[in-house]
Amino acid sequence: GQWFVVLITGCSSGIGLSLAVGLASDPEKNYKVYATLKTLNKKQRLLKSVTEFHRDTLDILQMDVTDRASIMSARDRVQEGRVDILVCNAGVGLMGPLEVQDSKVMKDVMEVNLFGTLQTLQAFLPDMKSRREGHILVTGSTGGLHGLPFNEVYCASKFAIEGLCESLAVLLQHFNIRVSIIECGPVNTDFMLNLQKTEIGDCALDALDSHTLSLYERFLLHCGTVFQNAAQDTEDIVKVYLDAIRSPEPAFRYFTSGTVPPLVKLKTTQPDGLEYIRAMGELIFPQDHEELQQ
Ligand code: NAD
Repeated sequence: GQWFVVLITGCSSGIGLSLAVGLASDPEKNYKVYATLKTLNKKQRLLKSVTEFHRDTLDILQMDVTDRASIMSARDRVQEGRVDILVCNAGVGLMGPLEVQDSKVMKDVMEVNLFGTLQTLQAFLPDMKSRREGHILVTGSTGGLHGLPFNEVYCASKFAIEGLCESLAVLLQHFNIRVSIIECGPVNTDFMLNLQKTEIGDCALDALDSHTLSLYERFLLHCGTVFQNAAQDTEDIVKVYLDAIRSPEPAFRYFTSGTVPPLVKLKTTQPDGLEYIRAMGELIFPQDHEELQQ
């Protein structure tokens, strides 16, 4: 067909689900969407948003980004035999003091967020390259641009995504393939429910020093407030995705709230990094700031 074939990872909830339904609902039916899910038994939510209109614009496929065979078989089920727009969106979070994190759990986060994205790209790149056409979009995080305490592993995985995408973008301009990262701050999704978080009272925290524990408690409160006050809806994210997808000259980086957040700017204006570390500390642990300056 003449439409753009889109394949999106992580569509059982959140940003992936909204984007899949949003694109498949295009009144002109410009997009044929393959909404992929880690397991098909999680398709209930997605099915609730699907109507008769989507009969020919949306297909659901199983695709676990940590499983190479599953990526290949999803790719081979795309009827059009090509993907014009690839959206790497699947991701998981992890929160808690670094010294109590289980190595299996840390590896799982890297496995989904980093290796999952790498493997997905490996599967679709050869065809895009040979057709000299394509747009790769990735759900990024401001946690991939600046560090956040108690999010060391998550931020490491999302920083890695930045390096991966920026490196690829340099090469892929020679193949007429665009790369865009949609940088999100907090978004109202299942992310906070799905993320693995060390709960206060968890025996893993028994051996932790009391100073870190009290800072962690304060961080969790801060986090709750931020999500309550500043979280965007998935529809806001979908709008930015649509901008990027429809643009004839898509940017490499999009910020979902419109402008570059001031704390991200600090990284380039104050390259020694100290100003950022001070400012983030002051934001999350305000009362301690004066004490630290003495
Ligand atoms: P979500 O938890 O609702 O969605 C994440 C999706 O990824 C789910 O559908 C989940 O099933 C899927 N997934 C997890 N492991 C997978 C695997 N192995 N294979 C395939 N799919 C898998 O949360 P969301 O907020 O919609 O998250 C989407 C992306 O947005 C993630 O990459 C996340 O890091 C990023 N992000 C979210 C926020 C936020 O505050 N919600 C902020 C910045 C970035």
